[in-house]
Amino acid sequence: MPPDPQESKSKLDPSMRDALHARLRFYRDLGIGEFYRHAVEPAAWAQSEAEPVPAGHPVQATATAPQIPQSTASQDQETAIAPRKPFPAAPTPAPPVPPEQHFAALKLIREEIGDCTRCALAKGRNKIVFGDGDPNARLMFVGEGPGADEDAQGLPFVGRGGQLLNNMIAAMGLKREQVYIANVVKCRPPQNRTPEPDEAHTCSPFLFKQIDVVRPQVIVALGQTAVTYLTGEKRPLSAWRGTVHPLRGTKLIVTYHPAFLLRDPNQKRHAWADLQIAMRELGLEPPART
Ligand code: URA
Repeated sequence: MPPDPQESKSKLDPSMRDALHARLRFYRDLGIGEFYRHAVEPAAWAQSEAEPVPAGHPVQATATAPQIPQSTASQDQETAIAPRKPFPAAPTPAPPVPPEQHFAALKLIREEIGDCTRCALAKGRNKIVFGDGDPNARLMFVGEGPGADEDAQGLPFVGRGGQLLNNMIAAMGLKREQVYIANVVKCRPPQNRTPEPDEAHTCSPFLFKQIDVVRPQVIVALGQTAVTYLTGEKRPLSAWRGTVHPLRGTKLIVTYHPAFLLRDPNQKRHAWADLQIAMRELGLEPPART
């Protein structure tokens, strides 16, 4: 008899589970984002591909779930993949805030978040990781969501990935205090999993508010989750990298997530090429080598 998927899921060794999470993140950063635990009938694929995408909504990799015949769905709940909801439209950009009021405006956003219980991530978090850096920064980095170190300290990118991000910022000739750093979700997802769409959609309006207050000249999206929820469009990272995209009156540049670069250091030179695009937009020269 084939193993019960629910049973094998619950018996997964924690180190195996962590390794699987890391591998899935790795694939996701490569732009490979759709995984199925069971074979899907070719006919179902064909049907989902033929499904029209509602006008005015960005196309996602899988706009609608395959239609599962009733009898099959009741035999195997896992086969019945929930239909993807279209991305909600990003809020209209807010009017500019005078620079001297950026700090206070960010504080108001933090107060609005409060001791948030708007999504399931609230249950497992220690600290809300709002954001960090210069409220008047010209450059903003957007990551996915806090990890264990960030959850403990309440600050974004303070773990190993944060050290690498600090090095990337320094290579651009900037100090961390000169940039602004925030995430798509402000609470740590369990086991550092990717935020679920409903979690990201619940939290991202606060990120958009932060962007509208800081009004950086350039936003660097770190990895697939950041660019997906910033733009509302699901495309592989490779489709975003290498060019400048307009976003809420600023310029969006996309690069790899530091966690991906830690796993595959060979990609650092490509990330550096992305950061040089950001530097060009900001009129920055790399610091002289000493
Ligand atoms: N990864 C992220 O995406 N954000 C953080 O703040 C830390 C790690």
